[in-house]
Amino acid sequence: MTKALPKMAKAASSEQLRQAFEEHLDQTKGHVERFQQVFEMLGEKASGKKCMGMEGLAKEGAEIMDEDDVMDAALISAAQRVEHYEIAAYGTVCAYADLLDESEQASLLRETLGEEKETDQKLTELSKEINLEAEEGSEEDSSERKHRGKRKLGRAA
Ligand code: FE
Repeated sequence: MTKALPKMAKAASSEQLRQAFEEHLDQTKGHVERFQQVFEMLGEKASGKKCMGMEGLAKEGAEIMDEDDVMDAALISAAQRVEHYEIAAYGTVCAYADLLDESEQASLLRETLGEEKETDQKLTELSKEINLEAEEGSEEDSSERKHRGKRKLGRAA
C-alpha cells in the first residue's frame, strides 16, 4: 500500500480525498515500522511474504486507475476494500497477541487497527459527499442527453 497510495492520491480529483490518501500513506509507513518493532520485541526477524489477497485488491485498484476518467467514488470503493482487509488482518493479529499475553505488542498493533478503522470511517464520510456529486453529475449527463435528443427531434421535424 505504500506504493499504491501515492498513485491513488495522484488520481483523486477531490482535494480532501487526495489529502486523506496522503495522510494514510504516512500512517501506513508507521504501520510497517510498528510491525518491525513488534518482531524486534519478540526477538524475531520480520520477513516479507507476498499477500495474495492484497495483491488482488491492488490489481483491482490499478485497473480502476487505468481508466481515462477515474471517478473519486471508484477510488474510495477500492481503498475501502483494502482498509476492510487490513482491519480483518490486524484484528486477527491483535487477538493472537492477546492470546499469547504479549500485551505491549497487542497495544502497538491495536494502534494500527484503530488507524485503519478511522481511515475507513473517514472514507465513508468523504464518500457521502463524493457519491452525491457523482450522482448529480450523471443526472446532468442524462438531462444533457435528453436536451440533445430534443434538439435532434426538433431538427428532424
Ligand atoms: Fe490502511
